[in-house]
Amino acid sequence: MRRPFIAGNWKMNMTAESGAALIKELKPLVKGAKCDVALCVPAILIPTMVRAAKGSRIKIGAQNMHWAKNGAYTGEISAEMLKEYGVKYVIIGHSERRQYFGETDQTVNQRTLAALANDLTPIVCVGETLEERESSKTNAVLDKQLTDGLAGVEDLTKLVIAYEPVWAIGTGKTATDEQAQETIAYIRKKLSKLFGHKAANRVKIQYGGSMNAANCKGLMAQKDIDGGLIGGASLKTDFATIVNFDK
Ligand code: PEP
Repeated sequence: MRRPFIAGNWKMNMTAESGAALIKELKPLVKGAKCDVALCVPAILIPTMVRAAKGSRIKIGAQNMHWAKNGAYTGEISAEMLKEYGVKYVIIGHSERRQYFGETDQTVNQRTLAALANDLTPIVCVGETLEERESSKTNAVLDKQLTDGLAGVEDLTKLVIAYEPVWAIGTGKTATDEQAQETIAYIRKKLSKLFGHKAANRVKIQYGGSMNAANCKGLMAQKDIDGGLIGGASLKTDFATIVNFDK
């Protein structure tokens, strides 16, 4: 039985003031939730949001981390720095990092292994572009992202996969329930080949891409979908409606 996991991705949004105010509003709304809940916030907001979320179901996550312990990597953040503030989750290889900041399957792999070595739970993002989907390359793209991105992972169940079709992120165009289920089932099948049936059956796989208060129930009802990675809708109290998808 996989416990559902709903995570928000604030991206480069919010300030210390507006973020803390939103968490204050969300706290009572997510109190009775039966799933795990996280908000992945900009690095500079982590200490303030950890304080704001204290005593609630909401865990604070980061949106990226470097694989090195420390060193001359201007602008980067280490696992140790995240852990010092009680961070539990870290998004790795989001499509925006791949698209705008040169993230590759190899750097995704380095970050993932470093997160796991430091007892952080990586939320590893995979997904195809519209062009790749339309030219029937979705499965091949996912095969490569999973094989290369997760190379050397010893315990698959210590991470979370987020399937995020790039064409559905921030576009308002959600994958249909069937499209999301079909692709996530494919991902589970591929993971089964790479890591064995037992681990693949236990690992959580989220859907991400314009998931919102209106479409979350249908997506969450799918057999292989264990949660959501939520961008836009995590910037408002709609996030609580998604967390309470089963009510
Ligand atoms: C995301 O940032 O991972 C995402 C899915 O964004 P949105 O929900 O806005 O499409």
